[in-house]
Amino acid sequence: MKKEFAVIGLGRFGGSICKELMELGMEVMVIDKNEERVNEYANIVSHAVVGNSVDENVLKSLGIRNFEHVIVAIGDDIQASILTTLILKEMGVNNITVKAQNDYHEKVLKKIGADSIIHPERDMGKRIAHNIVSNNVLDYLELSDEHSIVEIKASSRLAGRTMVDLDIRARYGITIVAIKRENDIIVSPQANEPIEQNDILIVIGADSDINRFEKKVM
Ligand code: ADP
Repeated sequence: MKKEFAVIGLGRFGGSICKELMELGMEVMVIDKNEERVNEYANIVSHAVVGNSVDENVLKSLGIRNFEHVIVAIGDDIQASILTTLILKEMGVNNITVKAQNDYHEKVLKKIGADSIIHPERDMGKRIAHNIVSNNVLDYLELSDEHSIVEIKASSRLAGRTMVDLDIRARYGITIVAIKRENDIIVSPQANEPIEQNDILIVIGADSDINRFEKKVM
């Protein structure tokens, strides 16, 4: 069964979510108060509507309550983003994801019960900072304030070594959950699996431990 999504706000972020959902074969309705933006999407989505989402009647007439998931991707107009979220919440929409512009915005969204809050600029900034500091860090996913999953490229110093002889668990307190090798992925690798140069290690652990591992072995 196709899932139904509604995307409110067709800036760069909302537009990109919308295109990706369509690629994934989902039914997508888009709403934007800007007619030009809506016209850009009219041919690719299931339903494109010009409307102001802070108007409860607009959202009601579109039957927004019946959508599986609503994404509020209103950019700079924080007031409109908060008010839209509040109306969706009051209408009983099950799953609301909202893009936050800053930490204050995020706090308010949490308070009014947004189910999921995303902070794309901040998160992307963090990822890129990690990548700039260490060329070996390819990607970075924050799990909590202190824990992450990181993709680290294995240097020649690691080639031929195994997790056992590097004593990774005991010395660094981290876990290699998978190894990407060319087009393959070895999930839960054996502790005696020799690491090859250019392998990509997917590592989970405390940030401080991951940093130690990066510095020591790269
Ligand atoms: P981004 O940073 O993702 O590019 P923008 O601020 O450029 O975000 O885009 C946000 C979009 O949200 C714009 O297309 C704007 O017309 C739309 N928008 C803003 N407020 C409302 C509203 N109250 N109702 C519907 N659409 C809105």
